[in-house]
Amino acid sequence: MEFIPFQKWFENLKNKEKLLIAGPCSAESEFQVLETARQIAEKTPVSIYRSGIWKPRTTPNSFEGVGEIGLDWIAEVKQKTGLLTTVEVATPEHVEKVLKHPNPPDILWIGSRTTANPFSVQDIADALAGTDFPVMIKNPVIPQIKLWIGAFERFQKKGLKKLAAIHRGFYPFEDTKYRNIPKWELLIDFKTLMPNLQIIGDPSHIAGKRNLLQEVIFMFSCLNVDGLMIETHIKPKEAKSDADQQVTPDRLSELLKNFESSKNDIENEKIKTQLNKLRFSIDSIDYQLLELLAKRMEIVKEIARIKKQNKISIFQIERWKEIIKTRLDYGIDLGLDNKLIKKVIRMLHQESINLQSKLLKEEE
Ligand code: PEP
Ligand code: MN
Repeated sequence: MEFIPFQKWFENLKNKEKLLIAGPCSAESEFQVLETARQIAEKTPVSIYRSGIWKPRTTPNSFEGVGEIGLDWIAEVKQKTGLLTTVEVATPEHVEKVLKHPNPPDILWIGSRTTANPFSVQDIADALAGTDFPVMIKNPVIPQIKLWIGAFERFQKKGLKKLAAIHRGFYPFEDTKYRNIPKWELLIDFKTLMPNLQIIGDPSHIAGKRNLLQEVIFMFSCLNVDGLMIETHIKPKEAKSDADQQVTPDRLSELLKNFESSKNDIENEKIKTQLNKLRFSIDSIDYQLLELLAKRMEIVKEIARIKKQNKISIFQIERWKEIIKTRLDYGIDLGLDNKLIKKVIRMLHQESINLQSKLLKEEE
């Protein structure tokens, strides 16, 4: 798929290196919208002002946004601060209201709940057909890359090429540190499948808490994303939605100073040689790990045969307890992280149980 990069979306873009977006989760009042924008424009290098005016909420009694009047406030932001603007659209009716506004926002974004529903995405793409609005598409709430890519295809088919992705993490089915699980490995897969598509990080919806923002931003900078979207509010604690994760414009300015992207093109020859040597060692170790894994699986097959002959059940709790304890002790002595050891050993053990049950079935 071909995409037009954000650097070519507008002539008057302030910051061409990264697409920096900030603003409140929700527009709440004309004063809050304008004062937040004024401070963002004055204190930070942000070029796009975001604000939700139609809010997709999990429960119906939460604040659902100010609606159409928010478009007038956002138009005022443009006029008074010179910032470009973006709002979320979730239905064709929202698109219609944007299109008929005399001074509409510059970019639209599709929320993660909407991306999860192909019917809604199609309706919005149909409503935007024939325009050349830039559209940013958040990942769907569930971790399914195909669904995310499908959304891009739906817009492409309607002739929209100014597209970018926003990574905001995935709904966690268990308690986690962050509000949404980042699943960085999935982002890397997505980047590999969509090499020409620019990706913006949304650390606010991943972190869920102000004090975790910095570390998520750091991860985004390591992954060399093309920009950031950070929820910003003049009085974060009083925000009508997402109060725990929003920051003041002053804090935003500090966070952005620390956001230094790691350079993708390695210019310095000496560093290049150093890295290549280390990568060579990593390659060699990975191949050895794979060979050992194959050997381990061979032994598992042998055990399966013995268990079958002697009618011994596959899963032996005592053996499992011993494995996890001894490996943890050993790995911790080697300086490995205990969560990592547990994860790897669990995966290995699960795989050997799967293989043994498969062999048992085949032989029956
Ligand atoms: C938002 O950006 O305020 C929002 C509702 O985000 P998401 O769709 O990622 O939940
Ligand atoms: Mn929000």
